[in-house]
Amino acid sequence: MQTKRRPIVAGNWKMNTTLGEGRDLAAALCRPLDALGGVEAVLCPPFISLAAIRETLAGASVSLGAQNCHYEPKGAFTGEVSPVMLADLGCRYVILGHSERRAHLGETDALVNRKVRAALAHGLTPIVCVGEDLAQQDAGQTEGVVASQVQAALEHLSGDDVAGMVIAYEPLWAIGTGRPASAEQAGATIGVIRRIVAGVAGEGPAGAVRLQYGGSVTPDNAPELFGQPEIDGALVGGASLKVTDFIAICTAAHMGAG
Ligand code: PEP
Repeated sequence: MQTKRRPIVAGNWKMNTTLGEGRDLAAALCRPLDALGGVEAVLCPPFISLAAIRETLAGASVSLGAQNCHYEPKGAFTGEVSPVMLADLGCRYVILGHSERRAHLGETDALVNRKVRAALAHGLTPIVCVGEDLAQQDAGQTEGVVASQVQAALEHLSGDDVAGMVIAYEPLWAIGTGRPASAEQAGATIGVIRRIVAGVAGEGPAGAVRLQYGGSVTPDNAPELFGQPEIDGALVGGASLKVTDFIAICTAAHMGAG
């Protein structure tokens, strides 16, 4: 597990920003993030803004990501967006299995795995979200919950596929609550996830896969989180909508990588 992994910080804008607001946000972030060579910054706006934001980011090293996709390349799936469409739009990443989709839209581990395989087949890098809820944490089930989610997400994948992926550990009790996991807690569970990946895909892919923490990440807690050796970056919700906060979080990842 000696691989040097480039930190990755992704901003999940969720169902926020009109087209104009998204353009303004991306324009304000673009140059400062482009200057942070040591860290990969990813913006994940709503589907309707992807094309415009691709234009805003043109020529910069900031990557574009989507917040979800369907598992089929095309067809009679009203309202859905396919991985082919996202790749065509210039997306490099796609968030899959976010807890909000699991909780509110009934996404199962099997569905997430289907989407992961479809995304990879069409050249997208999945950012797969896993994490336990408060009751599971209180019951000491964190390790078992993330193990089954990770194992299911990685089913039928090659070692190379796994090596190139991103997995975000996002305890549900920390998302949008202002109560992040402590750096030690996050680092320990992410270490467990790396061992789970090793069990599924082998030591090589486990050493290469990038593992993010997500859940109330702010400029204040980012340096300590990124100081944990197993944490390779963050998936950021609320703070990714604030220009100075997101730049500060990406800068903390950049410093941690140095
Ligand atoms: C998220 O929704 O992925 C997330 C981490 O949100 P927040 O940073 O707002 O907790």
